[in-house]
Amino acid sequence: MDHFTFEDMKKIKRDNLGDMVPLELFRTIRLIGLYQALPSNGKGTTLTIGRRIGEELGVNSVEELFELFENMKIGIPKIVKEDEKGMTVAVYDCFCEGLPVMEGKMVCDLEGAIMEGALTKLRGKRVSVREVKCNVHGDEYCEYEVRY
Ligand SMILES: [Zn+2]
Repeated sequence: MDHFTFEDMKKIKRDNLGDMVPLELFRTIRLIGLYQALPSNGKGTTLTIGRRIGEELGVNSVEELFELFENMKIGIPKIVKEDEKGMTVAVYDCFCEGLPVMEGKMVCDLEGAIMEGALTKLRGKRVSVREVKCNVHGDEYCEYEVRY
């Protein structure tokens, strides 16, 4: 064995601490680690990481992808608009909810890139996902524009 799969991530055997980590750890890795430590807020790197994760999830439908987002407590995605060219996806209860508002900043690019990777694999051709709203930006929820 020389590389991990998403299935491997589910093999957890921790007697005392179990299978959960606190949200502040996830946020710390995401925002202080990736977002603030990498050049240009980690733009390119975050995209690469997210796409790869999305491809690895092994989901077979949009419903399955959204269910996984909710089960992994990333957020609760809901399609607000959909046509043949794409869809608008709102994400409620996003991991960023409750953080201080920072003018002009949107921080949930990794989550969008995960969607992008999963949807691209699902549809067999390039799908692009752009973050258009974010709690940190002062919006009421996070939102993505998905283009097929
Ligand atoms: Zn957000």
